[in-house]
Amino acid sequence: MQELSAGIAKPLLEWFRENRRPLPWREDREPYHVWVSEIMLQQTRIEAVMRYYTDFMAVLPDVKSLSEIPEEQLLKLWEGLGYYSRARNLQRAAKAVTEQYGGGFPDTYDAIIKLPGIGEYTAGAIASICFNEKVPAVDGNVLRVLARLTGDGRNVLDPATKKDFTAGLKQIMPETPGEFNEALMELGELVCLPNGAPVCDRCPLREQCAAQRDGLTEALPVRIKKTKRRQEEKTVLVIEDGEDRIAIEKREGRGLLSGMYQLPMLDGYQSEEVIRQAANDWGLAPTEITFLKNAKHVFTHIDWLMKGFTVKTDEAGGRFTWVTRQQLAEQYPLPTAFKPFITL
Ligand code: SF4
Repeated sequence: MQELSAGIAKPLLEWFRENRRPLPWREDREPYHVWVSEIMLQQTRIEAVMRYYTDFMAVLPDVKSLSEIPEEQLLKLWEGLGYYSRARNLQRAAKAVTEQYGGGFPDTYDAIIKLPGIGEYTAGAIASICFNEKVPAVDGNVLRVLARLTGDGRNVLDPATKKDFTAGLKQIMPETPGEFNEALMELGELVCLPNGAPVCDRCPLREQCAAQRDGLTEALPVRIKKTKRRQEEKTVLVIEDGEDRIAIEKREGRGLLSGMYQLPMLDGYQSEEVIRQAANDWGLAPTEITFLKNAKHVFTHIDWLMKGFTVKTDEAGGRFTWVTRQQLAEQYPLPTAFKPFITL
């Protein structure tokens, strides 16, 4: 991984001045225009935004008109763009701007970020493009460019990675921060394309790019979505016959731990009565059921919250494989999740 270098600014800005697309919200540096376009672009492709933006500005040319339009009409103008909370937040922010700033737009990052619906990226874009404040504006495009440029293999969806890149950019902001931010975004949109398809021969940063040098343009950026963890309760049974053997079974299918062996389990936390009934259904006749202990195992996306019981039975049988602890230790793959219940 290499440091972000201030040397990227010059070639990047030169490239941008020659290659920037003439987008309607770039005609001037009016905060209202930059703000509305950035909010529209958050979840929508640039081509679709072009049409909506022009119609929107024809009806709502300034903050005041946006703050006053009846909500139904506003949503109608937004129809088809989706994520309607964006439109409602725009109007809430427009009302706040009218009330607190008399309709003039707040002119610092710290003030802009306090407005409804405006996050770090949008505040950075408005403050740098419209007010020349040296703050970065880091969106997905910028993260991709930076991860490749520096050869950084950390997860770009991790807020800590974004924070580091933002701090790094802050150190190297040139005298034209707005143009610099726009240039990075534009490079991500036009050249340093996603899904392993950057057009490096057309890139002004090719000479300085770690991913290009090390053949990592396809591998970077690393994007790992953190899915919400699921918690599952299980009742785990250590079933012992009269000869010191315990019952195990193979996990079938293609799911979690398939092909491994497991202790018999029931879904949910079950009572002794239910455990006895289940054992009967499996062809066993339990003589004693005692609570053993609780344990937790953390998989990638699931936590198992387990309650363990010892079940004594006179005879082995049923659908299980019966093994001594030594056999289990030596011959059968048993997931770590079950280890708390069994001393091998
Ligand atoms: S050289 Fe290629 S991978 Fe590196 S920043 Fe440019 S387009 Fe992206």
